[in-house]
Amino acid sequence: MKIGVLTSGGDAPGMNAVICAIVKKATEYEIDVYGFLKGYNGLISGNFKKLNMDSVAGIVNLGGTVLQTARCEEFLTDLGPRKAKQTYDMMALDGLIVIGGDGTFRGAVKLTELGIPCIGIPGTIDNDIASTGYTIGFDTAINTATKMIDFLMDSVKSHGRCMVVEVMGRESGKIALNTALATGADFVLLPGGNEEQEKQLINKIKYKKVQGKEHFLIIVAEGCQNKNTIAEKIAAETKISVRSSVLGYVQRGGAPSAKDRIIASKMGIRAVTILKNKGKNRMIGELSGKIVDLDLKEAMNNKNSNNADDKEVERFINSL
Ligand code: ATP
Repeated sequence: MKIGVLTSGGDAPGMNAVICAIVKKATEYEIDVYGFLKGYNGLISGNFKKLNMDSVAGIVNLGGTVLQTARCEEFLTDLGPRKAKQTYDMMALDGLIVIGGDGTFRGAVKLTELGIPCIGIPGTIDNDIASTGYTIGFDTAINTATKMIDFLMDSVKSHGRCMVVEVMGRESGKIALNTALATGADFVLLPGGNEEQEKQLINKIKYKKVQGKEHFLIIVAEGCQNKNTIAEKIAAETKISVRSSVLGYVQRGGAPSAKDRIIASKMGIRAVTILKNKGKNRMIGELSGKIVDLDLKEAMNNKNSNNADDKEVERFINSL
């Protein structure tokens, strides 16, 4: 058998651990593995390299992805997936594993419609994919954000300031929520927040100030509508010295945490085993601590339930 693998969309720590597990498991089954470079671009243009145990030696703990990743505009057109199918047929592959976010999975669904057996592995720091409780990279990202904010807070406490920190996550507030909990933030603003919440934030700072608190930490999600104005509003209304910081791409880098390496490895093993057993069109996920696989298209169509726990955590952080 011969299978292909690619990483697509935003990079996430742990992608290399998946690649490593795929190659190791495939080697055990005597399956050849071809890694396509730069996401769907490599599949369209036939840009690949054969992977073996030597090529994945020592990569399990590396951030980023050795296959590189990219967005691919052409794949959004009708022609893109058809060109990819030509490469696939020419190489006589028996399946494809794609590692990425929900966009990458939408692309994979197109390939399944052309008859390519695909397995999707969720790799994105945002933890925003429907039908899985976990996406590879999330744990490392929140650990990095927590560490960076701990550093920032040393200075904030020394000066008696309020720090507003924007964290990544696009329309998902998962990184913001969990980082806020881990850093003991005074308030978290998530996508979809309203003016009422802004007032609640200002009132909380005023109240705490009167009680003698001198430093504050506000976490703002990347997808929050009022992220660019909130620092000014806090300064104007509370008369406290405010600084703001955007953590940015540092959250996507670094060695993957043990949790990310472990889940990534287990997902990679499951993906290869499915293809070996002639299974197809599955999305690997993690639910209640167990690795699961679901029909790819159905999994994509499920709503990404913003569970009740998250609401409860948000209330806990933002309460007085
Ligand atoms: P992340 O969440 O980390 O950004 P992602 O996989 O969601 O990862 P996207 O940029 O949305 O990132 O998608 C990655 C690539 O998948 C796109 O550049 C494109 O090549 C392909 N893709 C996305 N949506 C579709 C679609 N509807 N049809 C075909 N291909 C798609």
